[in-house]
Amino acid sequence: MAKRDYYEVLGVARNASADEIKKAYRKKALEFHPDKNPGNKEAEEKFKEAAEAYDVLSDEQKRQRYDQFGHAGVGGASQGGFEGEGMTLDDIFAQFGHLFGGHFSSFRGFGGFGGSQQRKTVQRGSDLRVKVKLTLKEVAAGVEKKIKVKKYVPCTKCHGSGAEDSNAITTCPTCKGNGYVTQVKNTLLGQMQMQSTCSACGGSGQTITKKCPECNGEGIVTGDDIITIQIPAGVAEGMQFAVRGKGNAARRGGVNGDLLVVIEEEKHPELIRDENDLIYNLLLTVPQAILGDSIEVPTIDGKVKVKIEPGTQPGKVLRLRNKGLPSVNSYGTGDLLININVYIPEKITAAEKEKIKEMEPSESFRPNQSVKERIFNKFRDLLG
Ligand SMILES: [Zn+2]
Ligand SMILES: [Zn+2]
Repeated sequence: MAKRDYYEVLGVARNASADEIKKAYRKKALEFHPDKNPGNKEAEEKFKEAAEAYDVLSDEQKRQRYDQFGHAGVGGASQGGFEGEGMTLDDIFAQFGHLFGGHFSSFRGFGGFGGSQQRKTVQRGSDLRVKVKLTLKEVAAGVEKKIKVKKYVPCTKCHGSGAEDSNAITTCPTCKGNGYVTQVKNTLLGQMQMQSTCSACGGSGQTITKKCPECNGEGIVTGDDIITIQIPAGVAEGMQFAVRGKGNAARRGGVNGDLLVVIEEEKHPELIRDENDLIYNLLLTVPQAILGDSIEVPTIDGKVKVKIEPGTQPGKVLRLRNKGLPSVNSYGTGDLLININVYIPEKITAAEKEKIKEMEPSESFRPNQSVKERIFNKFRDLLG
């Protein structure tokens, strides 16, 4: 399912301020609020979509990754991020309800009003970070990588429960399986009910009477996993993205952590990367620069011929359009810039020396005033 651009979802410009984004989100959230659109699935989807966009654009780091990297940068390229699990309405009210919830009577997610219940605590596995090294060719086309990682995986003997068998799992007597305990406290404002996570079972609501011997009751063991990652074209050194749910497994059947993939770039022997452009340094001989030539230059996908005009000056740059790298946001492709230099021989024979000396008095070898000006102006432009 193709996702809409987050800026488009909130109807703000790409350079919108944090305040503008917050205002735009509040407006959308109120417009599509479930209480205002009871039973309307489309409104609910829009409500969720806006929350997802706000979740990313209101977080400076996530926004930066999104700008640089599109949806792949914030949700996970192959796992679809939000699409899989999605933000539930409860999540949205808990996280952003303060921005718009007050306008409505049924006020969810804030313990007390809408009869909300504190949920059992679910353990989450830790994130795993891997580096993936790519050649420029792989960066140009995008690539599928299979990587082997060592990580915590669910124990196969107890299926992640941590118990020796199903009889060894009992309901926690302290919280009666709720995962939380309620205490009544006397305060200046009267009696208040306080809920807190059950310390006896850590919030799971279950107690294990006999631990699984394989994992010592943890429900996880170390193991190998081979993970296939789709890397989009145009990524760059240091970029990071998350593959949801491919990190470490959690203790006793919780939620997996994420796999964080960090991009490393292998240096190309001839081409230098400058964002989406590539630069090739072409060294001409003196006769080639004077007489012109047809020369092969390397590109990402093989060699191409370029024509060197007679009288080509060092410092001239030829631009091969769209022969660079694609943008990771798929807004166009960079160019290949051929930066021309001329090799001046450092050692020549006596005979060659004589020939060069013969040329010296020639007028053609001396720059006239207009040439001097042209080269001077170019140099000045270069310095900005
Ligand atoms: Zn086990
Ligand atoms: Zn308990």
